[in-house]
Amino acid sequence: MALSPPVRRLKSRPITFVFELPTEKLTEFWNGLEKGKVYASKCKKCGYITFPPTADCSHCLNQEMEWVDIQGEGEIETFTHVVIRPASFQKYPTYTVAVVKMNAGVKVLAWLTSAKLGDVKVGARVRLGAVPSEDGPSYGFTLVN
Ligand SMILES: [Zn+2]
Repeated sequence: MALSPPVRRLKSRPITFVFELPTEKLTEFWNGLEKGKVYASKCKKCGYITFPPTADCSHCLNQEMEWVDIQGEGEIETFTHVVIRPASFQKYPTYTVAVVKMNAGVKVLAWLTSAKLGDVKVGARVRLGAVPSEDGPSYGFTLVN
């Protein structure tokens, strides 16, 4: 009986990524979060709504966009509970991330906070809102009772 050879694994050194993204055309998104609004971008030509917002329309490539506040309710399409967190999120407790179809028609991926694990279900109603964070203004979901 032949034994299989041992599996050898190499461990890489930790890798840190830092991105610098041009945000001139998206400044209003960040200003909106500071004012308690969650903006998506909407194409002035074809009406396509994008979240996170984009500077140009990914549907028709038009460069004229407008802002629409998409806060409000939506329905969970899928979610996951993250227990094994990436290095940059080690300071946070375990968390839940959900993909939600908003009443405004666009899908949003964000953290779902203040929910008991057993209460999170596909089809559950949630509310999207701007939330303060130590890393700057952000957005997230809470369950609607
Ligand atoms: Zn368009």
